[in-house]
Amino acid sequence: MEQTKSFKIDPASRMTGLPKQFFADLTRKAAAQAAKGRDVINLGQGNPDLPTPPHIVKALQEAATNPVYHRYAPFSGFLFLKEAIARRYKEDYGVELDPEKEVAILFGGKTGLVEISQCLLNPGDVCLVPDPGYPDYWSGIALAGGRMEYMPLTAAGGFLPDYDAIPSGIADKAKLMFVNYPNNPTGAAAGPDFYKRTVEFASRQGIVVASDFAYGAIGFDGVQPVSFLQTPGAKEIGVEFYTLSKSYNMAGWRVGFALGNAEIVSLINLIQDHYYCSLFGGIQAAAAEALTGSQACVRELAATYERRRDALFAALASIGWQAEKPGGSFFCWLPVPNGHTSASFADLALEKADVVIAPGIGFGTHGEGYVRLGLLAPEARLEEAVGRLGSLGLFG
Ligand code: PMP
Repeated sequence: MEQTKSFKIDPASRMTGLPKQFFADLTRKAAAQAAKGRDVINLGQGNPDLPTPPHIVKALQEAATNPVYHRYAPFSGFLFLKEAIARRYKEDYGVELDPEKEVAILFGGKTGLVEISQCLLNPGDVCLVPDPGYPDYWSGIALAGGRMEYMPLTAAGGFLPDYDAIPSGIADKAKLMFVNYPNNPTGAAAGPDFYKRTVEFASRQGIVVASDFAYGAIGFDGVQPVSFLQTPGAKEIGVEFYTLSKSYNMAGWRVGFALGNAEIVSLINLIQDHYYCSLFGGIQAAAAEALTGSQACVRELAATYERRRDALFAALASIGWQAEKPGGSFFCWLPVPNGHTSASFADLALEKADVVIAPGIGFGTHGEGYVRLGLLAPEARLEEAVGRLGSLGLFG
């Protein structure tokens, strides 16, 4: 047989232009350490450690036997699930949403956060992103060929973007912007004033706002996080992304929503018509149960994270590691000890203390000088982790 020419797979530039998965390396190193038989405490990722509440699991078990759900679901999902999220927003935030026009069902919030850039950005269009910030925003912008401009989040500014500091040449060009409170990675919370400033800035500049409310259910010290959609004028200029991953420990179920501006919701539904047929109906039924059933599990979960936060900060104080407590989310943003970069300290923590933490640089250049630690283990494990880090002798 004739020798065929060597066949070459030549990926599209869209693929080669994707941002590097910074944390893949960390995950690999952590797995290698655990494979050596070490007792690794992994606080580096954002994966909720507690199970989905039993009444939601039971709803899926029952729905799984219903043949109605064995067929394709309606393209943009079942109306009952859209009604359920609309009811939750009305009850929790006083926000009115039209379930048919102002709600899109997503395969997790991540999907919508990537899709919105593809829906709105042409190659070269400018998008404002927080720095540090959640890396999935970058992925969607890269796929759309958009250009990122960074809004630095600093301790001095309460980890909120300073709109007055954005050069007018950039603000004038921007078409889309991402905000995310309670914030990953800094744990900062935002109040109504911040969203008022955001709506003013974005309306003036003609920028669409994508509010990532993934940690909307996790606020501390008696302060409930506010939704962007509570701000007058918000729906005219943007959408909010909500997810069941954190509020109900349903990260593996992949249920999220885009809520608000009807035109953007319809663009998201349109792009999804081309990519998918909606989520398994049984999952949609269980998701509706999560949203309409008792919300005691949500309050208990937030209280659990608050107890963990307080235990962690007591332990940090005892080793002389000074840091600000987060106001929401399940992340703590801690300054690295003198003489270290975020990456060198995270490497040391893994090698010498078997503790996985995420280096701040992975979230953007303004993340340098910090590490992110997730409250994703019981109090005793968090205390054990801090004790081990304390023995490195770098604090106090
Ligand atoms: N936004 C932020 C800030 C997150 O941390 C996450 C989860 N890590 C998401 C969105 C997306 O979550 P999901 O896709 O599970 O809804």
